[in-house]
Amino acid sequence: MSKKKLSTLALHAGYDYSKSLKSRAVPIYATTSFVFDSAQNGADLFAGKAEGFIYSRIHNPTTTVLEERLSAYHGGSAAMAVASGCASNALLFLGLADSGKKIVSSPHLYGSTFSFLSHNLKKFGVAVEFVDVNDEKALRAAIDKNTLMVYAESVGNPSGYILDIEKVSKISHGYNIPLVVDNTVTPPPLLNPFEYGADILTYSLTKLIGGHGTHIGGMIIEKGDFDWGANPVFTNYINAPDPTAEGTNFWEVYGKPFYKEGKSAVLINKLRGDVLRGIGATLSPFGGHEFLKGLETLNLRAIRQSESAKIIAEYLSKHHKIGWVHYSGLKDSPFYDLSQKYFPKTGPGAVFSFGLKGGYEAGVKFIDNLEVFSNLANILDARSLVIHPASTTHSQLKGKALLSAGVTEDLVRFSIGLEDVDDLIEAIDKALSII
Ligand code: PLP
Repeated sequence: MSKKKLSTLALHAGYDYSKSLKSRAVPIYATTSFVFDSAQNGADLFAGKAEGFIYSRIHNPTTTVLEERLSAYHGGSAAMAVASGCASNALLFLGLADSGKKIVSSPHLYGSTFSFLSHNLKKFGVAVEFVDVNDEKALRAAIDKNTLMVYAESVGNPSGYILDIEKVSKISHGYNIPLVVDNTVTPPPLLNPFEYGADILTYSLTKLIGGHGTHIGGMIIEKGDFDWGANPVFTNYINAPDPTAEGTNFWEVYGKPFYKEGKSAVLINKLRGDVLRGIGATLSPFGGHEFLKGLETLNLRAIRQSESAKIIAEYLSKHHKIGWVHYSGLKDSPFYDLSQKYFPKTGPGAVFSFGLKGGYEAGVKFIDNLEVFSNLANILDARSLVIHPASTTHSQLKGKALLSAGVTEDLVRFSIGLEDVDDLIEAIDKALSII
């Protein structure tokens, strides 16, 4: 069968209705557990010698469709659904890293990810160094023999920093280290980081993939061609005997024979078998069903929201009460060239930020008088959203940390929805006229 295009994969991949009483929509398998055929079958399932479901903390047929669909949608080898975007990052960090190891990260991150990396991981003795990862010299200087991943967001939330995925992945691969990209803000059709060399993706499904602000969820997707055997740093986890699986070395059995064809699912198998199983931050089948619905229209929504954002960013950049606009699709943006490289057709997504000439006071007045937009702590709903990050989503960060995440006191963040763009501009115009 020819490789299907994105919009077809979003509707059909990973599901065979003939195996589910011919139900056209993916059913919600609302069950904790699955009945064994026999005592021997139970033992075989636990030993990984038989295929089938055991318990919904580890896997469930509804979320399995979502995992297989999103993996196919990105051209990956495997995926694992989890309870939130934060859980996708945290489980990945906790799974791969241990005491004495190091993560090199961009500082242009969502606030809770930044805090988890800077504070929580310290308790386990994991070192984290924040550097401008696009800066080759700084990146090379930060990587050492204990480094086991380079981590960044494709488009920093809310700084608008654009990761040069191709350049950074080439550098990290030179050290046999995977590049992990949180691609929450720009899922395909906007950007597929695998096409530029990323090895692992994390997502908050809560945002554009769900698209309707109804459920919290996350996903980790593995590309499948990374050689975990080439760097001794991974003998701590992936390339090591697993005590919970009778000493099996997962890399030898599930990775090494398959990675050259891009079909290794070793990372996802490992994470599912220990951190997901042990921590239990699982996505419910109800959540899985919500995200399957969102994914069906992602292709249409992402393009429309991104196009409207471009119109609004251009409008704001010409308004006399606006001090600055951080939208990489504008020619004066320091990220304009990278934006053209990674988002040549669609524009860099629907989230961007700006500051009013009147500073913080004017920003607060603007938000309080803005109609149609909702002032809340989320992005990439179908509805347009506004927030003041320094006092809300990024309030854990202070001083230098706030600035290095690209957040200033006067910054207002927009997430543009599916409303008619003329109505959005009218609402913005009205709120600006009041200040
Ligand atoms: N990653 C990014 C880039 C985000 O913007 C967010 C939330 O805004 C998250 C992760 C966390 O997602 P969740 O709220 O689903 O845990």
